[in-house]
Formats: sequence, C-alpha cells, structure tokens
Amino acid sequence: MPGIPASTSLRTPCLRRRMRLVPLLGLFWLLAACGDETPDRDILALDGRTMGTTWSVRVAAPPADLREAELRNRIQGRLIRVNSLMSTWDPQSQLSRFNAAPVGEWFPADPELLHVVDASLRLHRLSDGAFDITLGPLVDLWGFGPGADVAPESLPDPEAVEAALATVGAEHVETRADPPALRRTAPVRLDLSAIAKGHGVDAMAEEIEALGGTDYLAEIGGELRARGLNGRGVPWQVGIEVPDPSRRGVAREALGLEASAVATSGDYRNFFTVDGVRYSHTIDPATGRPVSHDVASVTVLHESAMWADGWATALNVLGSERGLALAEEQELPILFILYRKEGLDERSSARFDAHRSRSAP
Ligand code: ADP
Ligand code: MG
Repeated sequence: MPGIPASTSLRTPCLRRRMRLVPLLGLFWLLAACGDETPDRDILALDGRTMGTTWSVRVAAPPADLREAELRNRIQGRLIRVNSLMSTWDPQSQLSRFNAAPVGEWFPADPELLHVVDASLRLHRLSDGAFDITLGPLVDLWGFGPGADVAPESLPDPEAVEAALATVGAEHVETRADPPALRRTAPVRLDLSAIAKGHGVDAMAEEIEALGGTDYLAEIGGELRARGLNGRGVPWQVGIEVPDPSRRGVAREALGLEASAVATSGDYRNFFTVDGVRYSHTIDPATGRPVSHDVASVTVLHESAMWADGWATALNVLGSERGLALAEEQELPILFILYRKEGLDERSSARFDAHRSRSAP
C-alpha cells in the first residue's frame, strides 16, 4: 500500500488476530492490542442502545464503592436526557419544539442544549461554513434525515437542491446565555446529528467521573473518549478501522489514548449508491450536495468528544487539502485516509504524528 508507513502495515496483522470490538462506526476499542487478553485489573463493562446506535462503557479498576446498577442508571438517565434535549427524531425533544416555534422569538433552552449549539456555531465559523447544523432540509432531500427513512432511488432535482440551499444557513441562529435561550432569525431548523453523539460521550464521561471512575473508556457508535489506563494497566487501545464496508472491524492502526476523545467521519458506512456513484450522508453546504472527494475517512483526536465529533464532520466536508491546512492552523491531531487508484493513502497533521509516535507500542 503506497504512502502507508511500514510500521502501520506491520502492526495490522497482529491487530486483526487479537482485537475484540464493540459495535462501532469507524473506530473501536481494542481490549489488548497484541498481548495477553486477560486483564490484570478488574473491568466493569456496561452496554446499551441510544441515538439509533449502541453505547458502551468500560471502567478499569473501579472504586470499591462503585455499584454497577447505579452507574448504569446514571448513564442511561443522562443519555435519555440528552436525547430529550437534542434529538430531531423525537418530535417532543426541546430541539424539535424549538424548530417548530415562531421565528424571531427567543425560545427558553436548557444550558446543555445551548452548550452544543454554541460549539456548533463556533465550528461553523472556524470551518468557513463547512459545518452547518441547519442542513436538515438537504439531509432529508438526499434521503438521510428523520423526514426520509429510505434511501432515494433517484437523485433530487437540481432545482430542489437550489431551493433547499436557499433556506439554510447557521448564521440565522443565535444563542443567549442569560436567561438561556435560542432564536432563529430566518425559518431554519437545527439538526445536531453530527455532534450530539460526541456530546453524549462527554456526558457519559461526566457520570463515570462523578462516581469516582478515573480509568475508563466511553463510546457511542464509535465516537470514543478515554482516560487513564485499561485492564492491563496501559493506555486504552483504539483501532482505526480500514475504510471498507466489506472489511468491517478490521484495524488499520491502533492508537493509545490516555486523556483524549477520538471520532471518525467517513463515507464508507452511511451512504447509498445510484448508477454506481456513492452518495455520502455528509452534505457540503457550499453545493447542497453530498461530499464527493477522495476522503475515505478522517479521524480527529480532541480532549472533548463533542469537538472531535464535530471536527471530523467539518474536515470531511473540507477535504484533505483545506482540511489539513485548517487542522495544522488549529493544532488538531487528525488523520485523513484517502482513496487512490492504487488503494488507500493517508495524510496526517503534525500533532497526529506526534501522538502516534508517543503511543506506538
Ligand atoms: P460522521 O461520523 O460520518 O461524521 P455523523 O453521524 O457525525 O457522521 O454526522 C452525520 C449527520 O450529520 C448527517 O446524517 C446529517 O444529519 C448531519 N450533517 C450532514 N452534513 C453536515 C454538515 N456539513 N454539517 C453538520 N451536520 C451535517
Ligand atoms: Mg460527526
């Protein structure tokens, strides 16, 4: 495979034999990268479903007074709350009610919802508009939103795309901290799908820490956050998946994570094909069309899972040239895996290379 560091391809066969994975999207955790799979320390393991996918938590060396049932209740309660604030699939969620409220009026909103909307608006500006939480009408038009459950058999008319594009724009959204409220200045509707899973992971981490957990890995649908050491007393090992739907769960590379979140955005999981052309669920707000470039996946490390999740989508829209330049400017550790005629290639930022050499086994 041209362009792939030898160390990566050398490590892969070992990972393939040894990994144990959790249902995932792009990333998964490895119980043991290439060593003894029997943990030396106790592991508390919890799993469940949320946001149309799965969640999982592993706490290594849990505090003696940490009760599994209490942790489960807290995590489930918290995820239910995040959904009741942010889901666009639930017509009763706070976000859905805001989307149905009158334009131009302040709508009282929970600070937790504002936290995610504020980050999204900041990311919109930082990414030169590539990240945009008002794209719902286009997401629906291309067959990926709550308004359209089935992938379309044909493509939307260019006029319909133009018309929908005219109705979107995150610049029409405002937040107010005191009293906490949201307002839209044009009839846009908000969709936090590209960032809410990451926030959910941060929320789970808060609940684990509130009960004294210091060494854990928390995950929703492949967006992960880790702290401390795993069951073998080494940093949690996360696999970056080979971006190929026919090779699910095959690790291309392992990353050690000690106090970091990681998210991957890619077109190889959630897409449909019409006449042999692949259409991604990530929309480029500049064109109103699914992104179509050479990005197979982009992986972002960040201390916050919310930001890792949002940045992964934003960089996927920007593509490798602009995305890498922005990542260098923002000092983000990121890795693009790119489709090439000869196979896959990759480009990474300086911060990612530094992380990789620090966490190499
Ligand atoms: P990925 O992991 O591939 O980035 P996510 O689940 O994080 O996927 O986000 C994909 C969802 O984000 C889409 O289904 C859509 O609702 C929404 N979305 C699509 N394009 C954008 C965009 N440019 N900015 C923000 N949200 C988007
Ligand atoms: Mg995302």
